[in-house]
Amino acid sequence: MLDYVGLEADLDEEERLIRDTARKFVEDEIADDIGDHFEAGTFPTDLIPKMGELGFFAPNLEGYGSPNVSETAYGLLMQELEACDSGLRSMASVQGALVMYPIHQFGSEAQKEEWLPALGQGEAVGCFGLTEPEHGSNPSAMETRAEKDGDEYVLNGSKTWITNSPIADVAVVWAKDRSDDDTVRGFLVETDRDGVTTNKIDDKLSLRASITGEISLQDVRVPEANVLPGVEGMKGPLSCLTQARYGIAWGAIGAARDCFEEARAYATDREQFGGPIAQFQLQQQKLAEMATQITTSQLLAYRLAELKERGDLRPQHVSMAKRNNVRMARDQSRVAREMLGGNGITTDYSPMRHMANMETVYTYEGTHDIHTLILGEDLTGIQAYQ
Ligand code: FAD
Repeated sequence: MLDYVGLEADLDEEERLIRDTARKFVEDEIADDIGDHFEAGTFPTDLIPKMGELGFFAPNLEGYGSPNVSETAYGLLMQELEACDSGLRSMASVQGALVMYPIHQFGSEAQKEEWLPALGQGEAVGCFGLTEPEHGSNPSAMETRAEKDGDEYVLNGSKTWITNSPIADVAVVWAKDRSDDDTVRGFLVETDRDGVTTNKIDDKLSLRASITGEISLQDVRVPEANVLPGVEGMKGPLSCLTQARYGIAWGAIGAARDCFEEARAYATDREQFGGPIAQFQLQQQKLAEMATQITTSQLLAYRLAELKERGDLRPQHVSMAKRNNVRMARDQSRVAREMLGGNGITTDYSPMRHMANMETVYTYEGTHDIHTLILGEDLTGIQAYQ
């Protein structure tokens, strides 16, 4: 596997173990079937408890069954899962960074005890409801509302593009609290409550091996005890997104690495004009560029892990890495696809699947444009969103 400047030589024992466990899981459990899942538009839900058992959901948290592994180990895990498919990494990202993280960080003791062990083990599935049909890049304009009624809240609104909503047991729903000056709050909404529906979104041409849906909330009553007590305002959802984007910055490298390995193997094997296509300078140039782009993205990801570990990571650092590494994977998956010729457009090989997935990864968790604006504001002090 491409590790051109030997970054993995510095991994500790636990980090190696987690990398190898994830690699073996992918190899043994899903690598052979992922192309079929992509074609069929399905996710292997039977693997969710197994992923839980192996500690793939938020292992970087502490307590309630989570082992508090290093941020590098967490990043490597995301990298290995996304080397298989962005849908597999999305499952782990949403469950860990977007559902377990806010409960761990902002939840009550009772909420933590009820949900963290079950989500960590993959016995329960969570989803994160922020995006709405009319508000994607600007979620602070959300229309979903919560109104206090005695010791309950009544929720109304709709969320869309929600990963795993059709199979979720609980949704972290972000809504404006009408009874408190429209302050944004997080609500834990069990999906079997009256008034909750979660339609599946079909016909996706990207991230097909992942279940995506809507969440419709019609006069849904939840007890006050289901509000995340530790946060209010957009800081709540945005801090979760920083965690998930950190995982994406690592994960995208995995997808690109897998494309590189497929292209390298193909180029040394496939013969044209009397020899392997890898003997031609044009093909070598593509591999050299791909390896260089992957390596520079790895360096950024490893640095992010160091900053996160010592508490110096800023959301803008994460924006830079998400923006750069996903663009890199998007570009390089296309080059790999090209090197595979006609075979490259089939599900027998991974590059085109990764290439299609990267359209989602480039778009969700803040589009490439939005991360550009975040960096622009950080660099100039002038915001250019409006
Ligand atoms: P829009 O915000 O309408 O943007 C359209 C275009 O306009 C983009 O190119 C954008 O970059 C550009 N644009 C917008 N504003 C500006 C500006 N100020 N300046 C310049 N350009 C601008 N959301 C969740 O809450 N939970 C999930 O689990 C989840 N999972 C997802 C899974 C999939 C498969 C997909 C596709 C999306 C998912 N999302 C999820 C939603 C995702 O986060 C949004 O699609 C994303 O934030 C973009 O919003 P939008 O699609 O409404 O696009």
